[in-house]
Amino acid sequence: MIHSSVRYVIFSFLLVYNFAAHGQQTINDHKIAHYMKEAKEHMDAGNYEEANLSFRKLLTVQNILPTEMCYYFAETLYQLHQYQNSKNFINKYLKLTGTSGPYYQKVLALNELVDEKFNEIKSCQFCDEKGYRLQECETCHGEGHLLQTCHHCKGKGLTACTACGTKGVKITVNAFKEKEYKSCPVCNSKGFITCPVCGGKTTEELVCNVCRGKGTNISNKICDHSPPTSNTSSMDLFPDN
Ligand SMILES: [Zn+2]
Ligand SMILES: [Zn+2]
Ligand SMILES: [Zn+2]
Ligand SMILES: [Zn+2]
Repeated sequence: MIHSSVRYVIFSFLLVYNFAAHGQQTINDHKIAHYMKEAKEHMDAGNYEEANLSFRKLLTVQNILPTEMCYYFAETLYQLHQYQNSKNFINKYLKLTGTSGPYYQKVLALNELVDEKFNEIKSCQFCDEKGYRLQECETCHGEGHLLQTCHHCKGKGLTACTACGTKGVKITVNAFKEKEYKSCPVCNSKGFITCPVCGGKTTEELVCNVCRGKGTNISNKICDHSPPTSNTSSMDLFPDN
């Protein structure tokens, strides 16, 4: 009697547990279907920005995503010029479905288009490896470095002569215990020397930590791969051209 009631409790617990898990699963399935449909409709209308948002919502649903989503999202990302992200989802689709996926041919064609874009990017010197336009670093004005007052001489260009302790003379005691005065050969009796850090220029160059010495930063604009025209200072950015 006791034995069977314990079994009953365990059985009903599993039932509740299964029902709860299954219920959540159904809700997620509905969400996925809804966002997938929404995304496809936006794509059909050519609204790739909107489609992108629907896919992002889809990605927040904790569930196994439909493999076709990888293809559609890759296509959307391609249209939005996000070629690296597009490539990632192409690879994900191929990894999940191999050569047997229903979108296999379409994915291959898309992959070729993405590779063409990467070739354009690679041969362009005005964008980064993802195709975003480079712009002059505002911090260093494209110089890659910043001038700052010399830390060693505090901008004076001179430092004290340590050989003579700024006296300009060297005092030695000879064998007869007499003091001998000799002019300091290091500073030529001046008591100070040219700053060894800045060479007397009073300033020193620091590598710009915003652009890490490159003189350019990556903007959020998609590069059209054409050389800068209106702005002469950006022409100076690329002296090799
Ligand atoms: Zn000296
Ligand atoms: Zn100095
Ligand atoms: Zn800089
Ligand atoms: Zn470019």
